Formats: sequence, structure tokens, C-alpha cells
Amino acid sequence: MTEHHDGGCLCGDVRYRVSAQPVIQCYCCCATCRGASGAAAIPWIAVPNSGYAITKGEPVTFQSSDTVIRQFCGRCGTALNYRNTDYPDQRFQTDTLVAVASSSLDDIEAFPPNEVFHGDELPSWIDPENLCPGAKHHHGQGDDQSP
Ligand SMILES: [Zn+2]
Ligand SMILES: [Zn+2]
Repeated sequence: MTEHHDGGCLCGDVRYRVSAQPVIQCYCCCATCRGASGAAAIPWIAVPNSGYAITKGEPVTFQSSDTVIRQFCGRCGTALNYRNTDYPDQRFQTDTLVAVASSSLDDIEAFPPNEVFHGDELPSWIDPENLCPGAKHHHGQGDDQSP
């Protein structure tokens, strides 16, 4: 991918650049993503580590479970990225991927989600089928690999 996409947090202290084509474009509806974002579901793109760079500022790192590192802006709190060394989806294990919170991209239309992870953890007032029509579902929809 010769083009790149920039993004950043609400206050502008932290900026980043994505310069690789995403391997995964998804929503995650798990309880820890909910806690990290303050939203019921969060859109992610997973890209090779080499295709993601912080270009301004220094995000804060939080280890949200044994194998998961999340980074966010320490001033305004925007969730920025997610790294998991032991995610059950094989695509995370074939390369070193970083998941980028894609709603923090300047161009929010760039990489629409086409998969839903942990749709079973959504609150009752969101229908997983309506969240992302036509999406492929993982975990809790017949695919029981929840970490
Ligand atoms: Zn910020
Ligand atoms: Zn999640």
C-alpha cells in the first residue's frame, strides 16, 4: 500500500500513521474493549506491526490481561491500539499484528468493519446483526474461542 492513513486522539497529543493494508477489519464487543473505549463496541483494524507508527507524542500503556497490551492517550483517554501475543485467531499468530482503533483515523470511512468478534457480549439493546450487516461473526456465534 503506497498510500497511508493518519489518525490520533481527541486532544491531538498523540498521532499515528498506518501504512499497511489491514489483515482484519472488525468490531470487537468484548467487555475489556468496552472498558477501554467507553463504547459498547469498538472498530479495529489489524495491521502488521511494521505498518504502524506513533508519529507524535507518547501513548500510555496498560496491560489489560496476561497477553494483552493496550495504549491510549494519557491526556484525553482515546483508545489507540491493542497488541495480543496469544490471540486465538490464527491471523494474529502468523505475523506480528497490532490492532488500531479505526474510529480514531482521520478518515473514518477508510476501513469499514466486515467481521464481528464477541458479539455475544453486546448489551441486549444492540442487535449484533444490525451492528454490522453481513459481517462474519467470531466467538459466541458458534465459534467458541473466547480468550
Ligand atoms: Zn489525547
Ligand atoms: Zn475486545
